[in-house]
Amino acid sequence: MSFSHQISELKKQLGNRILITGHHYQSDSIIQHCDIIGDSLELARKVAQENAPHIIFCGVYFMAESAALLARQGQSVHMPDTEANCVMSQQAPADLARRVLQRLCAKGRKIIPLAYVNTSVSLKAVVGEFGGAVCTSANAQVMLDWALRQGDGVLFLPDRHLGRNTAKKLGLSPQDWRILSITLQGMEQESSRNDVPLLLWPGCCAIHAKIRHQHIAAIRSQYPDCRIAVHPECSPEVVDHVDAAGSTSFLIEYARQAAPGETIIIGTENNLVERLRKRHETHCTILPLRAVSCSHMGKTTEAKLLQLLEDISQDKAPVISIAAEQAQHAKNSLTRMLDVCAKASV
Ligand code: SF4
Repeated sequence: MSFSHQISELKKQLGNRILITGHHYQSDSIIQHCDIIGDSLELARKVAQENAPHIIFCGVYFMAESAALLARQGQSVHMPDTEANCVMSQQAPADLARRVLQRLCAKGRKIIPLAYVNTSVSLKAVVGEFGGAVCTSANAQVMLDWALRQGDGVLFLPDRHLGRNTAKKLGLSPQDWRILSITLQGMEQESSRNDVPLLLWPGCCAIHAKIRHQHIAAIRSQYPDCRIAVHPECSPEVVDHVDAAGSTSFLIEYARQAAPGETIIIGTENNLVERLRKRHETHCTILPLRAVSCSHMGKTTEAKLLQLLEDISQDKAPVISIAAEQAQHAKNSLTRMLDVCAKASV
C-alpha cells in the first residue's frame, strides 16, 4: 500500500481528532492530505478556530510555533519533521536581537522593533518586550508606518529586502535607512549613522535571494508580452524591475486574474508556482521567474507524515511547546499587529 493510501486510511480512523494544515510552499504530495492550506499566519489563526485536539503543521518550525502560541487549551501542535526550519528565521537569534536593541536604546533613543512573522517565538517575545510588533508581507506597509510613529526609530528584522521594499512604498529614501552590521558576537560600534528612522537587520531569505535581476531580462526577451510578479522577499533590485510585488496571497490572486492566453511569470518558491501553473493551465501560461525550492519546506514527506499519524494514534507524538515566560510577550507582539491592522482594515 502506498504512503498516500496509508495516510488516507489512518486519517479516516483518527477522524476529527486531527487537523492537517499545510503551507503553500509544501509539495502537492503533502497538500493533497491537508484540510487547510494557507500562509503562516493565516494557518496559525485558523488553528484556534478548529476543534481538533491534534494539529499537524506541514511547514517550517516558526510556523508551527506560531500555531502553538495561538492554539487553544487542550490543542497540541505537531510537525512531521521538527528539523524543518526557516533559514531566515534563524538569522535573528533572540539573545542577539536583545543585545542589539539594548545597545541601540542605550542613549535614550526609543527604537521600536518590527519583526517579520518569519521569526522564532523567542524573537517575537523580545519584540513584544520592547513594545514592538510582528508583521507579514501582506501588512508590512501598514505596520512599518505604525512603527515609525511610535518612537525615534524602527529596527526591522530579519529581512532587509522586505524592509527596504516596504520603506520604498512608504516614500522613504536610501538616506532614511541603514543596514546594520551585525555578527554573532554583536553589533559593530554604535555610530551616528544609526540615527536614521529605519534600521535593517542584515538577513534575507536565501531562496528568494536566488532570483536575480538578470533572470528578469532573460524572461522578458523570451516572453516580451509577459507580466511578472514577485514576492517582496526578493531584493529591491528585482522588485524595482517587475510589474508587481506582493505576499503569497497577492501572487495567488494575481495568477487568478490573468487574462485568457496571457503569460504570467511568478517569482517565489516553486511548489506554489507549479501549483498555480497546473490550476490555470487551460486559461493562461504561468511560469517561474526562476525555479527556486526551499529545502526545509521539502523536509516534510509523506513517510514522515504517516509516521506522525501513527505516533498520534498511539499517543506518543512529540508536541511543539512554548516556554511560558515567552508566551505572553510573543502574544503581545502578535496582538499589536492584529489591533493595528483591524484599525487600518487590512
Ligand atoms: S522560502 Fe525562505 S522565508 Fe520561506 S521558509 Fe524557506 S527560507 Fe524561510
